[in-house]
Amino acid sequence: MMRRAHFLGGLAGAIAFVPLLARAASGTKYPVTHTDAEWKDILGSDRYVILREDGTEPAFSSPLIGEHRPGVYNCAGCSQELFTSEMKYDSGDGWPSFTSVLPGRTLTQADYDLPGEERTEVHCRRCGGHLGHIFNDGPPPKYLRYCIDGLALNFVPRA
Ligand SMILES: [Zn+2]
Repeated sequence: MMRRAHFLGGLAGAIAFVPLLARAASGTKYPVTHTDAEWKDILGSDRYVILREDGTEPAFSSPLIGEHRPGVYNCAGCSQELFTSEMKYDSGDGWPSFTSVLPGRTLTQADYDLPGEERTEVHCRRCGGHLGHIFNDGPPPKYLRYCIDGLALNFVPRA
């Protein structure tokens, strides 16, 4: 089956009044799936709101902002490795920030949740969990800022 990062067509008429339009990628099939009730059990309520309902944690709330040890940041939904400590930097924006992501681990889609602003949402390719957004004001050479909710991640220090 084709997996499409940008799932935009076809269902617009059927879902026009569903409030969670931002999760247009719900037509995407992910290798790791659970029912909503199972996700709530697995994640707990705070992580569930971020990963499964496209929530955003309060700025400067994540202990991972100050995490500087060598290691890997895994998806809190499915444990897939997403970022390494070498990709992390201090953006000052209030969330854990990275300049890049491990290849092939995420998908993106346009997000129109904020009126008048189109943002790029990024989510886990394995479980579909919402991770955060990508902005174009990061450091050189790529100038990308992966603005990621700490609750969407688990940090594993390198031994
Ligand atoms: Zn995942």
